[in-house]
Amino acid sequence: MRKKVVIFSAPSGSGKSTVVNHLMSKFPELELSVSATSRAPRGEEQNGREYYFLSPEEFEKKIAEDAFVEYEEVYPGKYYGTLKSELERIWAAGHIILFDVDVKGGVNLKRIFGDDALAVFIQAPSVEVLRERLIKRGTDSPESIESRVAKAEEEIAYAPLFDRILINDDLATCLKEAEQLAIY
Ligand code: ADP
Ligand code: 5GP
Repeated sequence: MRKKVVIFSAPSGSGKSTVVNHLMSKFPELELSVSATSRAPRGEEQNGREYYFLSPEEFEKKIAEDAFVEYEEVYPGKYYGTLKSELERIWAAGHIILFDVDVKGGVNLKRIFGDDALAVFIQAPSVEVLRERLIKRGTDSPESIESRVAKAEEEIAYAPLFDRILINDDLATCLKEAEQLAIY
C-alpha cells in the first residue's frame, strides 16, 4: 500500500479550518496528524488531541533519538514537530494522514514526502476578501487582523511550491473541489 499524505496550508483566514473540518467529517479514512510541542497546554487543550505535550527535556531527548520527521523552534524556546511514531500509528490503522499546517510547515513536509504527498494551498480570492472574512469571523483584534493580512501577502509567494492551489471563492464549489483532491 502506498503511504499517502495530504497537506493543507493557507494564510490565516483563507478557509483552511472550514475545508479541513469538512473533509474530516466526510472521509473517515482521513486522520489528522497530531504534532508534539514543548509548550504548555492552553485552556481546554488535551494531551493527544491538540498536541502531544512534552517537557523541554523530553522534546530534546526525542530530537537526539531522531524521533521526528521534522521539527522547528516556532517561538523562542518552544518546539513543535511531527513524530515518526504518529505517522506509523495512522498508517497502521490504514488511514491517510492529513496535515493541517502553516505555509512554511507545508513546504517542509512537501519536500520530505515528495510524490507521496499532495500539497494543497488554499487561497482567498483576494487579500481584501481575506481581511473582510477575518473581520467577520470576529476572533481577532484589528492589530492581529492586520498582522495576519501582512503575513498572508508574504505567504502567497510560496503558493507555487504546492501541487495545487485551491481558490476559496464560493464555499460550496471549494468544498467539492477539496473532496476531489483529498481522495487522490
Ligand atoms: P482559516 O482556518 O484559514 O484561518 P477559517 O476556516 O476560519 O480560516 O475561515 C475564515 C472565516 O471565513 C470563517 O469565519 C469562515 O466561516 C469564513 N469563510 C470560509 N470560507 C468562506 C467562503 N468561501 N465565503 C465566505 N466566508 C468564508
Ligand atoms: P500554537 O498557536 O498552537 O502554539 O502554535 C502553532 C504554530 O506552531 C503554528 O505556526 C503551527 O503551524 C506551528 N506548528 C504546529 N505543529 C507543528 C509541527 O509539527 N511542525 C512545525 N514545523 N510547526 C508546527
